[in-house]
Amino acid sequence: MILLLGGTADARTLAEQLVGRGHEVTSSLAGAVAHPRLPSGKVRIGGFGGVAGLTGYLRAHHICAVVDATHPFAARMTSHAQAACAQAKVPLLRYVRASWATRCDADQWHWADDLDNARGVAERQGQRTFLAIGRQGVEPFLAWQERYTLLRVVDPPELPVPACWDVIRARGPFTVAGDLQLMRQRRIDVLVAKDAGGAAGVAKLDAAARLQIPVVMLRRPPIPEDLATATTIEQARGWLEAGPVSRPQLPAVGN
Ligand code: NAP
Repeated sequence: MILLLGGTADARTLAEQLVGRGHEVTSSLAGAVAHPRLPSGKVRIGGFGGVAGLTGYLRAHHICAVVDATHPFAARMTSHAQAACAQAKVPLLRYVRASWATRCDADQWHWADDLDNARGVAERQGQRTFLAIGRQGVEPFLAWQERYTLLRVVDPPELPVPACWDVIRARGPFTVAGDLQLMRQRRIDVLVAKDAGGAAGVAKLDAAARLQIPVVMLRRPPIPEDLATATTIEQARGWLEAGPVSRPQLPAVGN
């Protein structure tokens, strides 16, 4: 059984491909989203209970390989997976989609190392912020009691937000036309985003570029150096099938 740590669109795609190729896959979701899109194969939901809990899970369920395809900012899960896989002697791959850094426009982009830093930079760059960082990480921005802020989230934030904020509930993928309209309508003049990578959330960057709006981009947490990594789904599949799991023999059509 392969354990796929998910919660991302790419993890769902990988699960679908692996199941389609005859592998046994359990996808794990944190339970952070009320109505998650469910991947193919088996699914379990909720934390494991730290490193000890995950180590126990790997052993109890005879997991032969783990692919950590959580979001690039899910650093705690990545570190737990690394420690638990080392203890249970299970091969681990960190799948992390390519960064948006290659799209960086040095004149418009400002990199921030953490949320407090991002807030300070945004305050200097504009007045009306599009906060596109998900609901996690909203807390440092709640100091903006009188500053117009557009927050786009899948589920509402747990903490109450200031009355002058606009909270939109939406799930990607988004379009450039849609994000352009949204940013024009709300007279957005600065965008704060996480360097999530991938296609689903990239429209806001194209929209900001067209409107020549500054972008405050949160830098990704580093990936531990000694971790095997893949940046494409094909690489992840290749890693699995070349090593921990060979491709199962699918029954011939007509049998
Ligand atoms: P995190 O800070 O790295 O992890 C916090 C705790 O959540 C972990 O210690 C673990 O609990 C549990 N957890 C995280 N991912 C899990 C998974 N796939 N299956 C089971 N338990 C999981 O993670 P996060 O940043 O809160 O992200 C939570 C989930 O949301 C992840 O699945 C991630 O892919 C997804 N997500 C995150 C972001 C983001 O910006 N951070 C954006 C989009 C989606 P235990 O210690 O109890 O095992």
